[in-house]
Amino acid sequence: MIVAMQEKATEEEIYAVIEAMEEAGVDVHRTTGATQTILAGVGSTASLDLSKFEVFPGVMHVHRISAPYKLAGRAWRPEGTVVEFANGAHVRARIGGEQVAIIAGPCAIENREQIFAIAKCVKGAGGGFLRGGAFKPRSSPYSFQGLGIAGLELMREAADAHGLLTVSEVMEISQIEAMLPYVDCFQVGARNMQNFNLLRELGQVRKPILLKRGIAATIEELLLSSEYILSGGNYDVILCERGIRTYETATRNTMDIAAIPVVKKLSHLPIVGDPSHGTGRRDMVPAMAKAAVAAGADGVMIEIHPNADKATSDAAQTLFLDQFEKLVGELRVIAAAVGRTL
Ligand code: PEP
Ligand code: MN
Repeated sequence: MIVAMQEKATEEEIYAVIEAMEEAGVDVHRTTGATQTILAGVGSTASLDLSKFEVFPGVMHVHRISAPYKLAGRAWRPEGTVVEFANGAHVRARIGGEQVAIIAGPCAIENREQIFAIAKCVKGAGGGFLRGGAFKPRSSPYSFQGLGIAGLELMREAADAHGLLTVSEVMEISQIEAMLPYVDCFQVGARNMQNFNLLRELGQVRKPILLKRGIAATIEELLLSSEYILSGGNYDVILCERGIRTYETATRNTMDIAAIPVVKKLSHLPIVGDPSHGTGRRDMVPAMAKAAVAAGADGVMIEIHPNADKATSDAAQTLFLDQFEKLVGELRVIAAAVGRTL
């Protein structure tokens, strides 16, 4: 950490800060410049709340040099993490390797016919993962809340029939156990990115976790949330950029494509892009899916439905199956252009 003192800081003020830093277990190295004093603190500052130094009299700025997360940091695994999936002997997939993963499915599982038609399409297009919500975090309590376990049973059947892996959102701790037989990957939704009790519990699970960025979360907060899962011993975490809320109203969310290279630089964890929630608009999903792959995403997650207009959830951002098939063809070209396969 670095503490920059104000030009007019007195010796007493400087000493008070040095004393507080040392009390916090930090080694202090002082540089007295012609106009300003700089205090460099070395030691384990990860757990320190640096803002408490900011309010000391005479302090101008406090900066953190090392990241507050450890296990999620790139330095911990410079070569990058590849999350391996296995369901039985035959269905295997990886996220974070050379191949860009395609995760697609309905926002919500609705019925057998719907999920089977979608599974067939995902497999046919070359995708490896079937997504579908069974427990839906809807903004309104009067909206369709999902089929629950009955929906997961249908998704598992459809995925097994087509050799796909399944991804579904877990909203609370009590659902984990019941979901285990049906999901190959637990999704943590944007609204739960900081549900720390849920994250801790998922740290005990031995299945991959897809952690979505919160609606108002910084990248550092996303990485700190992943640290909750990693520190429990579950190292199979995949991050997801799904758009954040900004002042812009032309799209449902603002898809932060730059978050992809930022995460790649700061962390070893794979990251996928979700252009469906990222834009909220069917006509903009293909462009942002391609942008995500071009930016280095390890996969894309896309909402699709045979009758997209009539989807019970997120209809406006859901692609029809033929639109999805066309998009995957285009993504293949982009992937090749950035040295990946699909
Ligand atoms: C979803 O994937 O359908 C979903 C609810 O996503 P998010 O948590 O990003 O809103
Ligand atoms: Mn959705």
